[in-house]
Amino acid sequence: MSSSMKLPLKLLVDKEKNRVVFAESDIDFVNILFSFLTLPIGIIVRILGKKSSLGAMDRLYESVENLDARYFQTAPCKTMLLHPKNVSGFPCEGLALRVDDSEQLVYYRCPKKGSTCGFSSVPGVRCPCGQVMEVPFPANNSDSADGSDGVFVRGATSFIVSDDLSVKPVSMGASLALFQKLGIEDGSVLEKRNVELGAEEVLRLLKRSLVSKRPLTDVFLQEPDMIDDAEKSLKSMMAVITQTRVKYRSTATDSKRINVKLFLSKEIGKVVYAEAREDLVDQLFSFLTFPLGSILRLLDKHSSLGCIDNLYESVELLSNNYNYMKSKECYDMLLAPKLPPYFGCDNQLLDIGEMCSQTIKVGHQSWTKCRCEMNPKLQTSGTATGGGFAKGLTTFMVTDEMEVTPLSPISAVHVINKLMVPINSLEEAHASLGEAEALNLLRACLISRTALSDVFSPSLLMLLDERWCGQNYSKSLP
Ligand SMILES: [Zn+2]
Repeated sequence: MSSSMKLPLKLLVDKEKNRVVFAESDIDFVNILFSFLTLPIGIIVRILGKKSSLGAMDRLYESVENLDARYFQTAPCKTMLLHPKNVSGFPCEGLALRVDDSEQLVYYRCPKKGSTCGFSSVPGVRCPCGQVMEVPFPANNSDSADGSDGVFVRGATSFIVSDDLSVKPVSMGASLALFQKLGIEDGSVLEKRNVELGAEEVLRLLKRSLVSKRPLTDVFLQEPDMIDDAEKSLKSMMAVITQTRVKYRSTATDSKRINVKLFLSKEIGKVVYAEAREDLVDQLFSFLTFPLGSILRLLDKHSSLGCIDNLYESVELLSNNYNYMKSKECYDMLLAPKLPPYFGCDNQLLDIGEMCSQTIKVGHQSWTKCRCEMNPKLQTSGTATGGGFAKGLTTFMVTDEMEVTPLSPISAVHVINKLMVPINSLEEAHASLGEAEALNLLRACLISRTALSDVFSPSLLMLLDERWCGQNYSKSLP
């Protein structure tokens, strides 16, 4: 694929309201849209130039960039978070246009040909022989990605894609339903328009699909500066997070919980910062490795992110009702995409699958060796799974906006001053995260710039009230 490739797209436009009613397309466009679900958050943040509008994720990504390598278990941990792999990266090469055009599928090996030597998907990992694995080689050297019969969705059918990214097989019934939904009675307001979809439009579609209910209109009919400010969308989403917080069952009996010390200001009703160990930081950093499809699965299609939930539902519909999905693997790649091998983390509390590590044959005809994939998070080379990203026995400071730094009293004072909170008004409280709280934190990081306050503040304030009433101060929340 060349980046100058353009796909023609037919739009039906309501010219009075200047909005797209739907796009009529073949499987190429639909597969490009569905590929958004395979993208890990870290890739989305990176390709959108850290302006993803995904709540606190841009700041979280920046924190990883700014954190010195010595605060990670290994130097490659930082690379894993800044350049997380897309496990569907190889099939995605068959797309007519790839949203993540920068990623090349390569593995790394060491220069030696020892019998115990391994390989890694991340550069700079130590080989069992002691050398550093930095020699790139192609990840798939035999067969090539074939998108001729579709990458995820197959067939010669046309589809209609509504402005809010609901995808259905083309039918008069489906288009009439859309006219009705949008209150269009007079056909003379409708006009066919031909547009072209290039790499830039795909990128803008990705961005708008995460914040807007009308990404097709935003990308094809609006001037960029006319588009609603992301800030506005964030505000309207805050109501949702408050309403849905109670939806998840309390998991006070979780076998694993993450303890955290919070400093909050009653005056501004916010958590100013949290003092945390590597377990909380691992949980937060792991968010960057989560593929979008798995996040929507965890949040049960209630992510409140633009209209991306509709894309997820459309995959379910096309698969369950119409059997358009190419295979069960494709279904899973979109609706429950896994983490790449070794990207899982011991301290991570949410249920997200991880691919098994591989053994591959490396070399040429005269010399081939079976090599095992090594875990980049282990300080001593090995194939054991698990481990963590952040260095153990370190105390970190996490601000409400998800700036993660090593704890320093000077930085803490800076954060407090920035919020213009009197230092002597800060209250200290202890909280702990189980699965439910981790899920709320994930959602908050996606849609809010005050993630800690959103998750902890209301219950914390209640607890402080209890303490004033002379009751026992519980160490665990909620
Ligand atoms: Zn080696």
